[in-house]
Amino acid sequence: MSLTARFVSGFGRAARDGLGESEGDSASLDSELALLLLRSHEAQSSGWFWATDRAGRLIYLTERVSRELQRRGEPVLDKMLSDLFEVSGESEGAERTLAFHLHARTSFQNFEVRSRDDRDSVWTISGRPHIDELDQFRGFVGYGSDLSAERRLDAETKRLALTDPLTGLANRARMRASLDQMILQLERMHRPVALFMLDLDRFKAVNDTLGHQSGDTLLTVVAQRLESCVGDKGLVGRLGGDEFQVIVSNYRNAGELEQLADRIISALSQPYFIKGANVLIGCSIGISVAPDHGSDPETLIRNADLSLYEAKAQGRGKHSFFREELLTQAQSRKTLEDDLRRALERGEFWLAYQPVVSTATSEIVGYEALIRWSHPTLGLISPADFIPIAEDSRLIDPIGEWVLRTACAQAASWPRPVRVAVNVSTVQFARASLPAMVANALAQSGLPAERLELEITESVFLNEDSQTERMLATLKKTGVRLALDDFGTGYSSLAYLKKAPFDKVKIDQSFVKGAAHDKRNTAIIRAVTAIADTLGLETTAEGVETQDEIELIRSLGCSHIQGYVFGKPMPNEDVTAALTGGAAAKPVGLKTSRPTRQKLLRSTRIQHHGAKSGARIRDVSPTGMMIDGYTAKLRPGDDVVIETVEGRLTAAIVVWTSDGRAGLQLAGK
Ligand code: C2E
Ligand code: MG
Ligand code: MG
Repeated sequence: MSLTARFVSGFGRAARDGLGESEGDSASLDSELALLLLRSHEAQSSGWFWATDRAGRLIYLTERVSRELQRRGEPVLDKMLSDLFEVSGESEGAERTLAFHLHARTSFQNFEVRSRDDRDSVWTISGRPHIDELDQFRGFVGYGSDLSAERRLDAETKRLALTDPLTGLANRARMRASLDQMILQLERMHRPVALFMLDLDRFKAVNDTLGHQSGDTLLTVVAQRLESCVGDKGLVGRLGGDEFQVIVSNYRNAGELEQLADRIISALSQPYFIKGANVLIGCSIGISVAPDHGSDPETLIRNADLSLYEAKAQGRGKHSFFREELLTQAQSRKTLEDDLRRALERGEFWLAYQPVVSTATSEIVGYEALIRWSHPTLGLISPADFIPIAEDSRLIDPIGEWVLRTACAQAASWPRPVRVAVNVSTVQFARASLPAMVANALAQSGLPAERLELEITESVFLNEDSQTERMLATLKKTGVRLALDDFGTGYSSLAYLKKAPFDKVKIDQSFVKGAAHDKRNTAIIRAVTAIADTLGLETTAEGVETQDEIELIRSLGCSHIQGYVFGKPMPNEDVTAALTGGAAAKPVGLKTSRPTRQKLLRSTRIQHHGAKSGARIRDVSPTGMMIDGYTAKLRPGDDVVIETVEGRLTAAIVVWTSDGRAGLQLAGK
């Protein structure tokens, strides 16, 4: 009798006895059936059977398992069970318990064991003593199942839960866990930890233009470059989107962190070759260091985020370490945001209007509505300061709607049918509801659509897609005019002008200011007006401040002028009063623009708070100069002494500082 048959017949008998059946033909039928069931179970599941003799030597083992255990060539039958398996798990008690059961001939269940030869295998076995009809102990019978696959699956699930599937880097959960752990060790190991927050510049544009697949490929290459930069200095992770993080644990000083940040920025800024296209992106990094910038993970992450924000604000491709004042700034920004939330209902906003004058007739053809916020304690706050906060916090929607409705209503009551221009933020521009809101504001105020002009900045073209074009077309259908604002400050592609249904281009003040003394700017203005003319668009020169500039702008071909020279933004009552008297515009203010600055580069010395340091003079005018290359910590309002001409010291006041440059006004000028 084969081993299996012998074993199974014993089993069959046991089962039959249990059911109280009589012996006979049905016995062999039972055996066959039992054998069939056993085979099918062994073939189809991860379960298997085993049996030992009285001495504990294996007399049966499912073939599949026996083959697995026999890999070393030694047959497993006749071996002691405990020679093949060892109980896994840390407790020694478990091993003793198995041995105990075998010895004491008592049942045991679901013991986790490993093969002694293959420690990666995990099985469970159960067994009970086999007692025959004569109450004799015949050995053990039992079953087992293979847990290895399940365990591998568990491990894989765990790994997936900690890995970013696209790049294979650590994911947010793993980064957080590892930061937590590092910080816990901080006190024991006395080893600082630095957190780098990374953000890819221009990634969104690549994703939008080349498609998500290319975006994914790009992220994968970014991940590889990052890992090779960081190496064994820390752990690299991707938090989602184009947000990456590095926990740097292996460094000696801040200088080393700085070098690493520079290396990362430079590596990620190298061109990428994706789907036949050369792609360029950049990277900004915010850095916080534990324990100096926080000794708990939340603070550290927040401070690295604030530094990243700062790095981006400084222009792309920069890294920035956390400084306490970043937190203060963020807090005051937060307070401002809270105040902004309440400003609308408290009626703290009002609109100022600045005249737009035709160069041909010198008549006011319209006004640009500019929002003003009279803050209860801080006074008048510039829209340049609060519009970005409103945009980030989505408050721009209700505020923008209020501007539109108020401007339409006030313009409708002006004594002359001149136009009103309203600025539309890119955030509002992305709302599908914008055209309906515009139509509604027109209908409610009774203002004819052609009197309303919407000013849109070039940044709406950053996400160049069909949606932008559709929105422009839909707005145009409401009958309003469209103006491209701040032209020249962004991407300045003349292609937009051809494609989009604009009626007007507003040339940014940075080109207009000082155009009288700058050939390049005059050339640019001339070129833009020439193209606008051929496309049938109007042009407005913004920021015209002096009377000599009016003539210049006229000669360059601009159809309209807006600037302090024809009036600063004024309250609605003043508009009504001005228009009652007629539409003729009178230039006010300075006759000529400020004196020519002469560019030069000369080394000099300055004295600040009693300390002397070197500096370079970049340009001079009769009233002041611009300097750079100094080490002193200059602040606006500081007194300095500067050597203007070899050996001649002159007192001056710092008027402004920016990016390592400072504007000085000579004393008495
Ligand atoms: P903008 O639309 O380009 O508006 C022109 C800005 O230039 C206004 O600044 C105006 O006061 C200023 N300006 C006009 N002429 C001169 C000049 O001759 N010299 C100088 N130095 N400046 C001149 P303002 O009112 O501070 O507004 C700044 C920006 O804030 C605006 O630039 C616009 O982008 C935004 N803004 C203003 N009101 C609104 C609004 O209601 N909604 C939205 N979304 N943005 C607004
Ligand atoms: Mg504007
Ligand atoms: Mg503008």
